Amino acid sequence: MEHSLSIYNTLTRKKEVFEPLHSPHVGMYVCGPTVYGDPHLGHARPAITFDILFRYLRHLGYKVRYVRNITDVGHLVNDADSGEDKIEKKARLENLEPMEIVQYYLIRYQKAMEALNVLPPSIEPHASGHIIEQIQVTKEILDKGYAYESEGSVYFDVEKYNKQYQYGVLSGRNIEDMLNTTRELEGQEEKRNSIDFALWKKASPEHIMRWPSPWSDGFPGWHLECTAMGKKYLGETFDIHGGGMDLIFPHHECEIAQSVASTGHEAVKYWMHNNMVTVNGQKMGKSLGNFINLEEFFSGNHPMLTQAYTPMTIRFFILQAHYRSTVDFSNEALQASEKGLDRLLEAYKNISRLEAKASVSTLSIDELRQKCYEAMNDDLNTPIVISYLFEASRRINAAIDGHIALTSGDIEDLKQFFDLFLFDLLGIRDDSKAQNASYDSFAKAVDLLLQVRQQAKQNKDWATSDKIRNELAAAGFEIKDTKDGFEWQLKSK
Ligand code: ZN
Repeated sequence: MEHSLSIYNTLTRKKEVFEPLHSPHVGMYVCGPTVYGDPHLGHARPAITFDILFRYLRHLGYKVRYVRNITDVGHLVNDADSGEDKIEKKARLENLEPMEIVQYYLIRYQKAMEALNVLPPSIEPHASGHIIEQIQVTKEILDKGYAYESEGSVYFDVEKYNKQYQYGVLSGRNIEDMLNTTRELEGQEEKRNSIDFALWKKASPEHIMRWPSPWSDGFPGWHLECTAMGKKYLGETFDIHGGGMDLIFPHHECEIAQSVASTGHEAVKYWMHNNMVTVNGQKMGKSLGNFINLEEFFSGNHPMLTQAYTPMTIRFFILQAHYRSTVDFSNEALQASEKGLDRLLEAYKNISRLEAKASVSTLSIDELRQKCYEAMNDDLNTPIVISYLFEASRRINAAIDGHIALTSGDIEDLKQFFDLFLFDLLGIRDDSKAQNASYDSFAKAVDLLLQVRQQAKQNKDWATSDKIRNELAAAGFEIKDTKDGFEWQLKSK
């Protein structure tokens, strides 16, 4: 592929030219949701960030296998090795089967992602469907000597691993300091060191989600699923692993340790992380009262929202920031995005009103296109792409107002420019366009029926003519015969 896409690699802490291991094939793994609650902004941002990468890589001609997992087991309430399973806790509180919780929230997550025009990944594997693979990786790590069994659970031996390799390469944490702290954590007496993490946990008698293993009836540790499923679907080494910055430690740090301990080498070439979302300058949290889920944004039904925001406004707003910057949600900022997106969509509609009035082009759409490619190649700089779309829309408006004259080639170039960057690559969908298109088809069908009725009348086929008129009237249409034909409207019920 001829391009110079650079992406920021969290592991090496620098921008690197993207060179896939097995071009044109690209393997990409992104940590998906733990499905036990409403889909929210913290789900939307990584999904949209990696959707942009997925779309762009495909545009560059790569064949991308995009795996985004579904965490439905093993993610404990405090993100560590003690406490209840997040899904099981929800199931207990609502008196449901854990898999009922998973099904319920997974469908809502997928619907919200579809509303945000996030393309479905190639594979969405469930952690609970890959217990055998996770037991296998645990065995491999035990065989290599970097894990130990304790009371039916298996823990990763961080201190031993750190003697051979380096624990903390991704997060940059100083693990020596962490190892030297001798603080004992309650309920973690089974571990040699508090920093050790679970590969397999023995289930307590009341624990519902459990599977047999060589060590105990239990369940896998949270970090293990991504190592096992990444390897199964993308191989022992693959190109890109992504997720939110909050996953760098401990989740991704532990994934690296698991891969290196089991295979002797790191699995991932490029680690990519999107920054976090804040609401009115604060971290989003249930206890802070600023937790707004996506459905509430779409309906406007939340005390902090002054109006509803369409999924495309949310998507556009997220893309107006670079993925490695924070995004702060507020009514004012979202309203500004809504206006901005309306301006772009209006400009796009105006392209069809443009008339070619010049014979020589003075419009340099090629230059804008080139600048947009440069921005995408510079670590997916979507805010810059958007600024050039605004520049193009100013030229469209100048032409509408008669200030500049365009050639027919210019008009076609403008349309292609928007089609590529706004719709295909940024993934904006013009919802009003879809509605208009379906109304147009509907109106054409009604016109056709009424033309058939006119013909029937000319042929004195009164039965057919009356049938069409009566049935349409019964369906709520008001039909008027005029001297040139007919008029109709749909009465509002
Ligand atoms: Zn993960």
